[in-house]
Amino acid sequence: MNAGEFLDKKLIERILAKIREEAKYLGNVTLMEVCGSHTQAVERFGIRGILPKNVRLVSGPGCPVCITPTGVVDAAIKIADKGAIITTFGDVMRLPGSAGTLEEAKAMGADVRVVYSIADAVEIARRNEASGTDVVHIAIGFETTAPTTASVLLASPPSNFYIVNAHRWFPPAMEALLRGGEVRIDGFIDPGHVATVIGSDAFMFLSKKYGVAQVVSGFEPGDILLSVLVLLRMIRMGETGVVNEYERAVKKNGNAKSISALKKVFGKEHAEWRGLGKIPNSGMKLKGKFGRFDATKKFGVKVASSSGMPSGCSCSAVLRGKISPQKCPLFGKKCTPQKPVGPCMVSVEGACYNAYIA
Ligand code: SF4
Repeated sequence: MNAGEFLDKKLIERILAKIREEAKYLGNVTLMEVCGSHTQAVERFGIRGILPKNVRLVSGPGCPVCITPTGVVDAAIKIADKGAIITTFGDVMRLPGSAGTLEEAKAMGADVRVVYSIADAVEIARRNEASGTDVVHIAIGFETTAPTTASVLLASPPSNFYIVNAHRWFPPAMEALLRGGEVRIDGFIDPGHVATVIGSDAFMFLSKKYGVAQVVSGFEPGDILLSVLVLLRMIRMGETGVVNEYERAVKKNGNAKSISALKKVFGKEHAEWRGLGKIPNSGMKLKGKFGRFDATKKFGVKVASSSGMPSGCSCSAVLRGKISPQKCPLFGKKCTPQKPVGPCMVSVEGACYNAYIA
């Protein structure tokens, strides 16, 4: 089917009827979507509300801005204080650090600029190379955005270009949730965009090790509902493995060019996820000669270890699927998209932001 067919109302009603039928044979089931774009689509189309009562669909840590540690913001502010130009994506500007945001640092005189892509940051570096002003891009995100960073570093950017590297490998976070066992996850709606890069087979180890059902899903309402239906069937039949519902974009082995760029530039290291703590082998470590682009080394600044949230913020529980955003006492009161307290309300992919605007 093509993407348009997944918007078809009759098809959606047919899938929903099958979901209701399937749910009759099951006890309480918890499914988790682990992609910020899925969170957006689920809220936008009101999918949580139309599922049977015994099927709980929760959001996981799929919003890259939300899981970027406080220490990354703090390090960027310290580097800006040393005279570098900081570039970043819009959402990151309002991400709370331990002593404020980049937006606040900018108001106090730091040179912080919003860019739409890392290529814009490279261009700023090029324009400032002669003057000797360093440009530091805050590189965040998963396998979806990291190939672009890798391509830029492979293409020999200007000598005054650096990154604060906060890229993360995503599957280890899914494993951490399963290993932690705080919330029983019966099935994952795997991240469609990440799967486009690394392929559906990259998630298979989770099913083999933890017996969890998984579906790689597209982003239309019909895609997501069909994925829920497939998961419920797998759970009822006691099947594990990865079903690729998003075949129109995702291949078993992913995108060879992107994977090659990732492997050339990044290795693995243990890394902090805000709200989740340190996750083994989840950090994209700059390999060998690419270490020269590491802004923290160049400026002698440490990214402090801290996965904490602002006082009163329940984002850590939200990111683990333990509570819905509405259960946070600050939701919609002290914490709104206009005045966000925690990272899940800052980002357009955050669970709290999307629950609020839905
Ligand atoms: S509503 Fe705000 S304070 Fe509460 S968990 Fe979400 S981001 Fe944190």
